[in-house]
Amino acid sequence: MSHAASLPETLPGHPHIARRGASLMIESLPASELAQRFGTPLYVYSRAGIEQAARAYSDAARGRPLALRYAVKANSSLAVLQLLARQGWGFDVVSGGELGRVLAAGGDAARVVFSGVGKTRDEIAAALRAGVQCLNVESLSELERVDRVAGELGLVAPVSLRINPDVDPRTHPYISTGLRNNKFGIAQTQARQAYARCAGLANLRVLGIDVHIGSQITQIGPYLDALDRVLELVHDIERDGITLHHLDLGGGLGIRYADETPPSPGEWIDALYERLQSRGQGHRQVLLEPGRSVVGNAGVLLCRVLTLKDTLERHFAVVDAAMNDLMRPALYEAWQRIEPAQARDGGHSRRYDVVGPVCESGDWLGRDRLLDLREDDVLAILSAGAYGMAMASNYNTRGRAAEVLVDGEQAHLIRERESLDDLLRGERMLAP
Ligand SMILES: *Cc1c(COP(=O)(O)O)cnc(C)c1O
Repeated sequence: MSHAASLPETLPGHPHIARRGASLMIESLPASELAQRFGTPLYVYSRAGIEQAARAYSDAARGRPLALRYAVKANSSLAVLQLLARQGWGFDVVSGGELGRVLAAGGDAARVVFSGVGKTRDEIAAALRAGVQCLNVESLSELERVDRVAGELGLVAPVSLRINPDVDPRTHPYISTGLRNNKFGIAQTQARQAYARCAGLANLRVLGIDVHIGSQITQIGPYLDALDRVLELVHDIERDGITLHHLDLGGGLGIRYADETPPSPGEWIDALYERLQSRGQGHRQVLLEPGRSVVGNAGVLLCRVLTLKDTLERHFAVVDAAMNDLMRPALYEAWQRIEPAQARDGGHSRRYDVVGPVCESGDWLGRDRLLDLREDDVLAILSAGAYGMAMASNYNTRGRAAEVLVDGEQAHLIRERESLDDLLRGERMLAP
């Protein structure tokens, strides 16, 4: 059986990425042509892929007091933010830079929540001046700081407290954020004290309560456990005389990288509301902050094979993308599907380690992948729409990749490839 014939027509979990004959297509455009036209490494996103994933959330939210806040850190490119802003989404930001991006992309500050375990004075001031919906505060000390900055500006700061619910999201330890030993949030045992403290701070207005337990979560159970903890706290806090206007349940819904079967946004939201209703809390305003599940499977990273090399132990395919372009494999040993842009017949298939040119042994993109390759072939690394470009760096003085948004038969360059001038900008040499 030929390799090409054995490839699936559509790739599970990637509705807008499919094979037509030997060609891997992103919507109506062949990946190999995009690589030729725009160069590699190249991030390519399907507009329909992003919009369809966003619509799955919007559809489930309809008729419910549920507000969607896209987690910008998953993919913060302006055109991506613009697509979501146009669909009426708000945003979850974790830095002043991300807030600036949202505003530049036409996002509405009144629908922005500002999360993060450490916010500078300037970031707090920028958020208050912009008029964000709320600051998610993660410690007592930050609460005092936000109050002080708001006082200096003559403003009242809307705040929500992020609680660490101490539940295990059953995901990779680096992306677990709601366990007791993580740096995130205020311990449950300190939550009431923290809310009580708010009452004594004149420049704060308490809006809600917030949790975010982790990322790439593929089961509903941990979310329901976290929700139960939140509802217990809401009960106690409101008994203390403080009204909570919203519950922010964070993001973290997983996607299919290999054979995971995460719940759909609709299943997740239905389960949350079922639990809320069973506790008599179905009227509560809920915020969700999905990131990965909105953009992850709408994007691929295209790269070209520079060198095929055999050592005594292994076959290596050295490609022109590297850990600075896509950090997830190096950082979390993440597995992402790798597909040839043009499938060959499989006659020369080998198990390759697909690696980048960066001077680190950790610089690999996929290990032990059965591929039939020649030098100059184009490869697509799938599921690269989230935590791909957003985590890219200039390590080894490598310019960051270009980005293209495909819309049917159109390809829009949404970010230029970084040039050497871009990389050197802002640097100063010593006087001779
Ligand atoms: C990262 C993050 C999210 C989004 O997580 P995803 O796994 O991308 O959905 C949401 N909220 C907060 C506070 C985050 O830090």
